[in-house]
Amino acid sequence: MTGSEAADAGAGNDARSGRDAGAGRDAETGNDDETGGDVGVASGRDAAAELAEPVETADTADTADTADSAEAVEVDEPSVEPTEAVAASEAFASLGNETRLRVVRAVVDADEPPTFTDLFEATEEETTAGFAYHLRRLVGHYLEKEESTETYRPTYAGRQVARALRAGTYTERVDSEPTAVDGDCPVCGGSALEARAADNRIAVACTACDTALLSLPFPPSGARGRSPEELLDAFDAHHRGRLALVAEGVCPDCAGRAAGRIERADPARVPDRETDPEGTTTGAAAGTDSVRPVLVADCADCDFAVRAPVTLGVVEHPAVVAFYYDHGEDPRDRPVWNLGSEWRERVLSTDPWCVQVTTRLDGELLRLLVGDGPTVVDAERRPADDGT
Ligand SMILES: [Zn+2]
Ligand SMILES: [Zn+2]
Repeated sequence: MTGSEAADAGAGNDARSGRDAGAGRDAETGNDDETGGDVGVASGRDAAAELAEPVETADTADTADTADSAEAVEVDEPSVEPTEAVAASEAFASLGNETRLRVVRAVVDADEPPTFTDLFEATEEETTAGFAYHLRRLVGHYLEKEESTETYRPTYAGRQVARALRAGTYTERVDSEPTAVDGDCPVCGGSALEARAADNRIAVACTACDTALLSLPFPPSGARGRSPEELLDAFDAHHRGRLALVAEGVCPDCAGRAAGRIERADPARVPDRETDPEGTTTGAAAGTDSVRPVLVADCADCDFAVRAPVTLGVVEHPAVVAFYYDHGEDPRDRPVWNLGSEWRERVLSTDPWCVQVTTRLDGELLRLLVGDGPTVVDAERRPADDGT
């Protein structure tokens, strides 16, 4: 895993004048691993002419408003090192016992820091000598002993273990039959979406056009106590927030150094290419108009990785939120598998990468220039040329 380029995109003087040739959101919403299925939202067929003038970008790079989001990945400064590290095998071995797991849970669940006796009684150990051995295996790494009060409290590691046990991270697997999903398919426009869970991943697909829209992991605890609709709402919010963190350079799984870079989407993973009105995505045309972008985010410190449409990486940007708010809408009302047919993506430059992302509401256009990060290096609002 490597970090992405610093977010200094914004070149694009080779931007083509003329039509936005169907740069609909047919990028990918995707997997966080390589096991396939990260195909995407596609609705480029009704791309309208817009932005007839070349894009001025020399200035926008200079005035980049958030160009620092990914730089931490590249800066080679001394980092904060752990003050202590134990072997993973030793840390896990300490947990490999029912009594010790119960103790960790009991300490975390206790209202007041428990004593030796409190904890002994929370287990089924028969002798305090035997129990004392188990407690010693935990103290120092998962528990700390407060000598003055002879009580125990959890360390960060202890809390994380208890939380993962409670959440079912290591123990529960959610699988479900397909359930109908409200809303339209971004590829065919039909309303035959369905979601299903398998091994703690949720996949949304269209049964009308047989398109897999996305497949992403979801913690087993996310399914508890929620109706299918509530579960999908939570799934949507969960991944929206995770991508917003990536845009800030923070890994949503480990808080490590995450960054997104824009890449050329694998044509095989982009659905609905035939519907492009200009036919420019078939590979015959040279230049950036034929390039479909995808945002590839990953973490330098763990194996987090996700692929998503560039649009999805900027939908929480203040310029987007303000634009929708001013038009009486909320971008959070659009699920991550279909942000709406008003969005367009168009590659202006591939070195460095610059993708123009536009959306229009009530006759007004919002245009963002997006570079690696993802970083919005310029945002502009103006009346839509055709008044739609
Ligand atoms: Zn469909
Ligand atoms: Zn990470």
